[in-house]
Amino acid sequence: MPRNERSQTVSFATPTTLLPPQEARGRRHFGQFSLRRRVLLSQLPLTISAALVVIAVMVIDPGVALESPYIAIGFGGILFLTLLAGVVPWHRLPPVLYWIIPLLDFVAIAPLWTASRYVLDGMSLLTAFPVFWLAWSGFYPVLALSLGFIGTAAATWWPYLPGTAPYTDELIESNLTRPVMVPFMMLSLGAAASILTRSMEKQRLELRASLEKSKSQNRLLQAVVETSDVGILVVDGQGHDVLMNQAQRRTHFIGLPPGRNDGAEHELLLFEADGLTPILPNERPVAQALQGREYRGRIIAIGTDGSQQHLSVSASAMYDDDGEFDGTVVVFQNVTDLMDAIQTRERFVAEVSHEFRTPLTSIIGYLDLAMEEDLDPTLRQFLTTSQRNAERLLTLVTSLLDAAADSSKVTVQTVDLSRLTRYSVESAEVRARNSGLTLASDLPDQLLAKADPVKMGQVLDNLLSNAIKYTPAGGSITISLRCLPGMDEKGDWAELAVEDTGFGMTDQERAKLFTNFYRTEHVRKAAIPGTGLGLAITQSYVRAHGGEILVNSEKGVGSTFTVRIPIAGPAS
Ligand code: ADP
Repeated sequence: MPRNERSQTVSFATPTTLLPPQEARGRRHFGQFSLRRRVLLSQLPLTISAALVVIAVMVIDPGVALESPYIAIGFGGILFLTLLAGVVPWHRLPPVLYWIIPLLDFVAIAPLWTASRYVLDGMSLLTAFPVFWLAWSGFYPVLALSLGFIGTAAATWWPYLPGTAPYTDELIESNLTRPVMVPFMMLSLGAAASILTRSMEKQRLELRASLEKSKSQNRLLQAVVETSDVGILVVDGQGHDVLMNQAQRRTHFIGLPPGRNDGAEHELLLFEADGLTPILPNERPVAQALQGREYRGRIIAIGTDGSQQHLSVSASAMYDDDGEFDGTVVVFQNVTDLMDAIQTRERFVAEVSHEFRTPLTSIIGYLDLAMEEDLDPTLRQFLTTSQRNAERLLTLVTSLLDAAADSSKVTVQTVDLSRLTRYSVESAEVRARNSGLTLASDLPDQLLAKADPVKMGQVLDNLLSNAIKYTPAGGSITISLRCLPGMDEKGDWAELAVEDTGFGMTDQERAKLFTNFYRTEHVRKAAIPGTGLGLAITQSYVRAHGGEILVNSEKGVGSTFTVRIPIAGPAS
């Protein structure tokens, strides 16, 4: 399993991972600079362009550059405004005041344009810089556009005003048409820039709001996860830990090999629920979760000796939008106290039952002997009642011992299930008849399977005994056995069904049926003898054979218990 060394220090994603990449690397974007720097940076493109214009004019027509004072005035003005942009502490003034720079830019552009336009084409485009700047500023959009228009018009039309420039009337007439559209074009461009700026600003605000929201959700989630007593581990699709909360870090520490303070997940000492059998590498909870498996309440032990703890582990897979496996969430709940309590209870029940059984067997034996004597009828009746109750007590004690015993061990041999079932049916016939029930069977001549004859016999007896106990007089019971050929990769299966026309049960009752000591309300009220252990034992025996038990039932109609086991026996 590819594990990342980060596993020891994993915590929540820090807010920097939520920022755009260049920001995460420490670079700031334009909006984060100081106002003075932003004003200076906004002015610089014009300064550079003006410098290029001056150089171009000097190269192309040095005469114009040297003779006309307009070049020096215009470029000097732009340089002065650039200096002003860089030195004025704009942040101490009302923000809109920095408009003074683009507005004065128009004044500086006017002489520069006037002198250079006969040498270079398109010089009126210099006005685009202040126009865009005003439009981008985000203040008073209509006023910004109007000032941009007026500024451009003033800068490009002024030489045509009578007496303002050293040009003849002919020149004015011949050239007036050339710049006439410039302010209008700049107005359109400025409007486009203004709309773009406003929509970008709106998007920026929305983005910031959602960033803030996600940060606060992140903080909330962190608080919840860190306060939880349950260990939480989130691993991404590549096996890297994304999150490990405080509780899980403590659990992780318990699992480290003795003498170690640090280690990766695959080094932790993990055992099956018995606390002794090491879990195989690809069966470890996280390894399985990384294979995309989902499970609930898997009991494992972590650590050794006195510090060993029992954990109930659950895993849920995560998928991306394309349905691809994207990681897993594994939750570890410490159930050591619960496991201790269950073990103590089981030990207590087993010991008490064992202590009861010896004297009880002796009582029953002596009662049997006493009944063989020639007795007074009243005394015989007393002894019969004592004998019946002693036997009930023995059945209870035996069930308790069976439930406490390790039911997972079966000793298999080739068994004729047909014969075994026939034998159980014959033993139950008298009881069925006495209860006013008809008992029918549908069995093949022979059905050989690898099974534990004692435990399968007990399964049959339990199901038949229940069907008889929980079916009112006049009802019927049918037991059938058949082979299900090639049901799965394990090959053929045997299917045994016990069907009755008894009390039946609701779906809720059916769900609890295999829990130790569970009995339905109806049965408890009717005081029908029983312990509520039979089906739990039956289920554990069937599972030990690699099989399954299913129940179909309808309240007031009847029930069918179906047992299926692989004919080849349980997997080794
Ligand atoms: P017990 O029979 O000793 O009570 P079981 O574990 O065998 O214990 O059964 C548990 C409960 O399931 C019973 O008490 C009864 O309420 C219900 N049950 C079992 N088998 C049947 C059946 N065939 N029909 C109706 N209810 C049943």
